[in-house]
Formats: sequence, C-alpha cells, structure tokens
Amino acid sequence: MSIMVPSKTPALITPGQQALDSALHQLHQAAEHLGLDGGLRTVLATPRRSLTVSVPVRREDGRLDVVQGFRVQHNVSRGPAKGGIRFHPGTDIHEVTALAMWMTWKCALVGIPYGGAKGGVAVDPATLTVVEQERLTRRYVNEILPLIGPEKDIPAPDVGTDEQTMAWIMDTYSVSAGYSVPGVVTGKPMTLGGSLGRAGATSRGVQIATLAALGRSPEGVSVAVQGFGKVGALAAQYLADAGCKVVAVSDVGGAVYASGGLDVSRLRAFAAEHGTVRGYPHADELPLDDLLELDVDVLVPAALEGAITEANAPRVRARLIVEGANGPLTPEADEIVNANGATVVPDILANAGGVIVSYLEWVQNMQAYSWSSGEVEVKLRDLMENAFAEVRSLAGARGLTLRQAAHVIGVGRVAEAHQMRGLYP
Ligand code: NAD
Repeated sequence: MSIMVPSKTPALITPGQQALDSALHQLHQAAEHLGLDGGLRTVLATPRRSLTVSVPVRREDGRLDVVQGFRVQHNVSRGPAKGGIRFHPGTDIHEVTALAMWMTWKCALVGIPYGGAKGGVAVDPATLTVVEQERLTRRYVNEILPLIGPEKDIPAPDVGTDEQTMAWIMDTYSVSAGYSVPGVVTGKPMTLGGSLGRAGATSRGVQIATLAALGRSPEGVSVAVQGFGKVGALAAQYLADAGCKVVAVSDVGGAVYASGGLDVSRLRAFAAEHGTVRGYPHADELPLDDLLELDVDVLVPAALEGAITEANAPRVRARLIVEGANGPLTPEADEIVNANGATVVPDILANAGGVIVSYLEWVQNMQAYSWSSGEVEVKLRDLMENAFAEVRSLAGARGLTLRQAAHVIGVGRVAEAHQMRGLYP
C-alpha cells in the first residue's frame, strides 16, 4: 500500500494558503466598508463545517492508494451549501476553504438562496483509469455522505470533474438513500435530470459579463483566454460568436496564437481529439505564460488561482480582465493592474453563470419539472445582468473597484442574514 502525498512546493506558503489569504483579505476589506463588528467578521471568516477524509482507491493493477479529500461548507445562513468538487493534485484544505468562501459571496451577490461550499480530492485524474476514477468518486462521496444532500449541500463540477463524475455522485447518494435523488448534485447529464444550458452556463455568464463591461460593440475586440477547459473553451467560443477576435488560448499543455484570430470551433475539435491545444496547426506556438502578457483588449484567466501575481501583473497589458477562474489574481496583482488602469470583472460576478444554472437545475429537480433552453437562458441572463448592474452602480457611487463592490454586496447580504436570524442558543 502506498500513500499518495500531495506534491509540495518549496515556497513557504502553498497556493491554497495564498488563495485563502486572498479570500480573507477581500472579506476584511468588505467588512471594513460595511462597518461589521469583530464577532460577525470572525463568523464570516470561519467555515461552518470542514471535513478532511482519507480515500482509499484500489488501482486496477491491485495496488491500494490513499488520497486526501475535503468538503468545506463555509456558510449556510441563506440556504443549503452549494459548490463544486475539484480533482487536482495541488488541492488542499486551505484552497477548498477559500473556494467555499467565494461561493458564499457569489450566491448572495447574484441573489440565489444558497450558502457556499467546495470539495476537493488531492489527485490528478489523468493518472487514473476510468474505473479508478469511478471508485475514487464513489468512495469520496461515501466519506462525505453525512454532509451532502439536496437540502443540505449540493456539489457540482469544477476543475478535473465533469458530468460523468456528477452521475456517479448522484448514483452513490441514491443507492444509500434507497431511491433516486437527482437534486443532490448539479451539472448532471441530461438523462439524469441535468438542465439544458448547464454545460455552457459559466462560459455564457463570462460572455454576458464581458459584453456588459466592454460597453461597446464586441466586433474585432481582441481576446486571450488562459485555460481551455470547461469554462475557457466555451467562453472563447461564445466571445468569438459575439464578434470578438480570440487571438490566443492555452491549456496546461501549451499556448497557441494567431494574430488574425483563431477558428475556435476548429480548435475545440482539435483539443477534444488531442487532449491539448498544443500542436494546433493553424496557429503559432506561444510560451505558456506569455499569453497573460499579450497586448489584447480582454484577458480571460480561466485556469486556476494565482495565475497573475505581483511578479507578472506589471506586464499585463489587457484593459479588461474577466475572471473566468476563481481567484486568478492575487490581491497584490489586483492592485497593480487597477493602478495601471485595467478594469477587472471579479470571479464572484464573472463566473457566477455556473452556479446560477446549477440553481435552476436544482429547482427543476425539486419540482420534477424541466425548462426549455430558452427559459434557462433568459433567467441566467436576467440574474447576471442585474448583478452586473448592481455592482457597477455601487462601484460608481462609492468609488470602489468592481471587486470591492461585489464583495460589499455579497458579504453585506450574508451579514444581514446572520443578523436577522440571530444566534442560537
Ligand atoms: P477544467 O479542468 O475543465 O479546465 C481547466 C483548464 O485549465 C484546463 O484546460 C487546464 O489544462 C488549464 N490549465 C491548468 N493550468 C494551466 C496553466 N498554468 N496555464 C494554462 N492553462 C492551464 O476546469 P474548469 O471547470 O474549466 O474550471 C476552470 C476555473 O473556473 C477554475 O478556477 C474553477 O474553479 C472555475 N469555475 C468553474 C466553473 C464550472 O462550472 N466548471 C464554475 C465557476 C468557476
């Protein structure tokens, strides 16, 4: 038996700790602005429930590995906890806590009745066979079973997980309940109660937020997208469909660039076949991190946290940065790009389309009903555009950045829920 220990970085602070520091920094800024008292600040800074589990996985060759898994419910004052599950070797309890906290503010900001949660397993799914992925998923779900449920905590896909993972989660939970419980998880396949429009929802939201922030015709606007996964690939597609010129995209395997614009549909087909954009024959190769520093109108970081730090932020030239990923800019980087005149549409607003349509999927499941893709799209657009308008208006009125304004609204609503509910006992 071997124990798979998450890889260690030589840095004193792990990326997960850095993400949590960022989340706490943003919370404290908002709390300061709202004048929240110290006790309430501590409640909001502290996860409500935090579970670390060991997940044994029998490999197909007979070996037994043990990986660490996490589920954190940051806050449930406004409704059941909601948040994705990430399979990534670098994930740790700090990262999952930060991501859960951002989910709390995001749900409050866009006005859906959820608290925030997140889950993670410190594993690289690419090193597992499909059978091993299924075993891992089922055993992890079994370990966190006391926490999740359609009225308690509803997982969804994130980095390294997809609708197949969600189907296994739904099945594992349902077997334990003794009947089918589609509402325990969102981002499911259509055949198991998934919602029309969920697969592209986060990316559609990124498109809506980008077009709202641009405030001019998207025709010919140049865009670079970091991360060509579930969020980034469709965000590139929808922005290209709207008339933007997507000149560069990257994934963990490499980056590609075409000054005249990439044919995103063709590139998606290539990436689906080859597992990476690297080697795409109709574009030039680009060093991975150069993508973030291209002279483009819009940069969409849609990979992982901490992509832009104080080290590379001074070289970022995009005038508009739309955070498809959670936490791609550190607070130091955020300050630098703002000082250089860029506008940042923050993660809790820009990528909220995913949780909005997850909420719609859950509502449909709880009602045993389904909406057309047109109905889903209209509701998504309404919630995104309303949230964007509220954030922009508060930022303008109080001289805040869009990130600060979004946090003031999100944190303020959660604080209000706590104050109205009072404290038991
Ligand atoms: P994914 O696993 O489908 O895709 C991640 C992509 O990032 C992959 O293409 C990967 O190769 C790439 N990547 C990783 N490191 C990179 C690097 N250093 N440079 C360039 N590319 C790199 O994950 P996803 O679901 O698309 O999630 C991406 C981000 O969006 C995460 O921050 C996630 O939390 C956030 N998010 C996802 C959803 C959702 O619905 N899936 C919703 C809201 C926010």
